[in-house]
Amino acid sequence: MTARLTVLAGPTAVGKGTVAAYIREHHPEVWLSVSATTRRARPGEVDGVHYHFVPGETFAQMVATGEMLEWAVVHGRASYGTPRGPVEQALADGLLPLLEIDLQGARQVRASMPEAQFVFLAPPSWDDLVSRLVGRGTETEEERAVRLETAKVELAAQSEFDAVIVNDDVRRAAEELVSLMRSPSREASAG
Ligand code: 5GP
Repeated sequence: MTARLTVLAGPTAVGKGTVAAYIREHHPEVWLSVSATTRRARPGEVDGVHYHFVPGETFAQMVATGEMLEWAVVHGRASYGTPRGPVEQALADGLLPLLEIDLQGARQVRASMPEAQFVFLAPPSWDDLVSRLVGRGTETEEERAVRLETAKVELAAQSEFDAVIVNDDVRRAAEELVSLMRSPSREASAG
């Protein structure tokens, strides 16, 4: 079977990180890309596991030398990007590679790797998304307002995706994602 890249995107606070954490713990066969970011590590985050925490100059250099498969400034606060080399290696090794990135990044990957599988993680409802964002309490009120505006726009983009998974339960959503990752690509099943 040819390895295929899967890209998981979705609005802020929908629980992409939690789904990724579940997969990291329960599905060692999935290769999770480790993004580079200019933001600071939060308590419990490990450099090289959850992110590569890099200074702005290092990030800019990675972009300039073409090392990033995609990158974006997310919520106007910090830069995030996917180092290209490890993804290409994972594909060459026939692993099950997964990228958990924002919508801007997903669109860039779609432009360069249209054969990848694009999955949108959606909240059960708008109210659910708002209460998740308020509940996690990691943003100021001003930051929350910015994120909710972005989320509105991002929710409208779900039709661009190959599949939509509703995050009503982390385990169920993660298992659905892994089974989508394992399913043969459209090209393969057509042929
Ligand atoms: P957080 O700072 O909460 O870990 O992540 C903030 C946002 O950045 C999330 O929406 C996450 O999907 C996105 N993100 C994480 N890594 C990448 C990346 O490599 N590229 C892009 N474009 N977005 C990313």
